[in-house]
Amino acid sequence: MDFNLNENQLMYVDTVRKFVKNEITPHILEMEKAHIFPWQIIGKAWKIGIINLCIPESVKGYEIDLISTAMIIEELSYGDSGISTSAMCNDLANVVIAQHGTDQQKERFLRPFVEKPLLASFCLTEPNAGSDNSMMTSFISKKDDGSYVLNGSKCFITNASYASQYTVLCKVGKPTSNFMACVVIPVEHVTAADIPDIGNNTRDIKVPTGGKIMIGKPEDKLGQRLSNTASVTFEDVIIQPDQIIGDRRFGFKYIVDVLDYARPMVAAIGLGLAKRALAVTLDYTRERKQFGQRICDLPVARETIISMWKRVELAELALFRAACKIREKAKDAGIYASLAKNTAAEAAIYCTTEGLHLHGGYGFTTEYEISKLNRDAHIIDIYEGVREVQNMIIGREIV
Ligand SMILES: Cc1cc2nc3c(=O)[nH]c(=O)nc-3n(C[C@H](O)[C@H](O)[C@H](O)COP(=O)(O)OP(=O)(O)OC[C@H]3O[C@@H](n4cnc5c(N)ncnc54)[C@H](O)[C@@H]3O)c2cc1C
Repeated sequence: MDFNLNENQLMYVDTVRKFVKNEITPHILEMEKAHIFPWQIIGKAWKIGIINLCIPESVKGYEIDLISTAMIIEELSYGDSGISTSAMCNDLANVVIAQHGTDQQKERFLRPFVEKPLLASFCLTEPNAGSDNSMMTSFISKKDDGSYVLNGSKCFITNASYASQYTVLCKVGKPTSNFMACVVIPVEHVTAADIPDIGNNTRDIKVPTGGKIMIGKPEDKLGQRLSNTASVTFEDVIIQPDQIIGDRRFGFKYIVDVLDYARPMVAAIGLGLAKRALAVTLDYTRERKQFGQRICDLPVARETIISMWKRVELAELALFRAACKIREKAKDAGIYASLAKNTAAEAAIYCTTEGLHLHGGYGFTTEYEISKLNRDAHIIDIYEGVREVQNMIIGREIV
């Protein structure tokens, strides 16, 4: 494994670091308290080319390698993991098109994201199909004219209130089918000017080809409050055959491919968050004195800071290993993706919990960023597969 970054990779890190330092860090606590959707940041991130990372060269004119992708997401997450979750969600939704779509589908479904700062949603989870997505019941059925009709409900969908396109996993033929399809539904484009902030409102979308999509009120979440999460219901939505990605029976395989790509990206979110927790804790404990010494010089506190640093470093190693495995298209890439996700989640939760503790009573107030980071961290261990599911994947492979 080569840990040296090339010129391009260094340039990306530098660009995102400056962007975060100027645009996010100085205002993050007010932004999070105001709870306004961060369109402005997303627009600026789009302008400097740090979102829509999976779009291929044939559409975008250039391609971003996997190591750079992970590092861009990590740096953005150092600023705010809710903003990076929203930004990264475009890739979660679009990578299946980049990997398995035809040239026409890539042009039709990916081009709009290159032209405007738009958001996409990836619709997999359902109320009764979370970790076990084989239990989903949303389905498409074929009509006499060769088109399909989609019905069903999804929950916890990132960007749903603002999305201009929905990538949907659904059963084929009937809710209990063994086959799963992946369909793409473009809708009227939404920009900051159209829906500046959804507030506590629902959104109804008339689908151009026929049918309705109903978006629920945004979830009122513990953390990552700058990302949007809502339910999505599809009512008699007409799907033309050219909206189906790849083979309409291979959805399960496509989910595995998407998650193998996306789990290291969640690891990058967790790593950025853990690094921020370590940084704000170092700042605080270097400043504050008790027992005549800086807190960071008190031996037991120093031990805790060392443990935080070790977890951050291990998470970074695991992330690089997973990104290299995926870049090589290694057969065992999946278990390294799971390892990276679990290691980063552990680092994020440990560093934010212990970091908060080292801030004492001040850490328990909303005045210090560490309390926000601690609220944000828990989701890293949950979305895109809970910790136990990652262990299930690792266990199955190594045994
Ligand atoms: C902020 C946020 C954003 C999200 N974004 C998206 C999105 O964009 N698209 C999307 O499709 N989904 C999204 N999700 C959904 C997310 O992926 C699911 O919440 C997650 O996969 C877990 O499913 P569940 O919530 O139904 O939990 P469940 O599957 O009900 O699991 C609950 C708990 O049961 C235990 N458990 C589950 N399975 C096992 C097992 N095999 N062995 C042992 N214990 C187990 C674990 O402790 C687990 O935490 C998002 C969720 C949140 C909160």
